[in-house]
Amino acid sequence: MPTIHEITDLLKKFAPLKLAAEWDNVGLLVGQRNRAANRIMTCLTVTPHSTQEAIAEQADLIITHHPLPFRPITRLTDETPDGRLLLRLIEAKVAIYSPHTAFDSARSGINQNLAEGLGLTGIQPLTTHEIDAGSGDGRYGGVSGPIELVELARRVKTFLALPQVRVVGELSQPVTRIGVSCGSGGSLLATAREQDCDGFVTGETNFHTCLEAMATGIGCVITGHFASERFGVEQLANHLAAELPDTKVWASHQEADPICTV
Ligand SMILES: [Zn+2]
Repeated sequence: MPTIHEITDLLKKFAPLKLAAEWDNVGLLVGQRNRAANRIMTCLTVTPHSTQEAIAEQADLIITHHPLPFRPITRLTDETPDGRLLLRLIEAKVAIYSPHTAFDSARSGINQNLAEGLGLTGIQPLTTHEIDAGSGDGRYGGVSGPIELVELARRVKTFLALPQVRVVGELSQPVTRIGVSCGSGGSLLATAREQDCDGFVTGETNFHTCLEAMATGIGCVITGHFASERFGVEQLANHLAAELPDTKVWASHQEADPICTV
């Protein structure tokens, strides 16, 4: 049975922590490294639902994309929502690991997989990480022949199995080079423009970034933060299951997008 230490070594090979943003809090955040881990659950976020599932299913380790804890803490009590989740997991002996922005940027990370899933070719990072060739922030790539923005939206919906997405721009405007940035990716819009992208796919961004996209003629497809990253934790579970044939690995069945459309 692998130890948590052995599993985190595997995760660090897959998504080296040096790729993480400076402000991020990645790696093993809770847990005893020499304890065995026989049951591993991946999820996007530690919530009451994913916590409940991890404990009920007797997970030894949660690999959560979004870190918990994220900010420095000076006390751990049941007075805060995060404190309650952390205490429940610690009492149930569940360790927590988060690869977050290292996984976004990794060679086979979320942005790479998103770009591949949209059928882009010649995929490159929007900004390259000098320490690890082939990794970096976001991705961009081409589509064969210009396609209409509405076709890009269709591809996004198909790949992420979404009933709808939000779009900025004319549905018929042609796009040939597409930037991709999962999660709150609007900050990479300017970088995508510098790389001559005329299309951009992200999880979420603010109104003023949408106006900026419109003013500069970049057609945007906005998927929602959850959808832009959740498929990544499902792929990560599959990857780990293949690497650890005797370990039960699954992506949380209970977590869902906290935002619904009515
Ligand atoms: Zn995210």
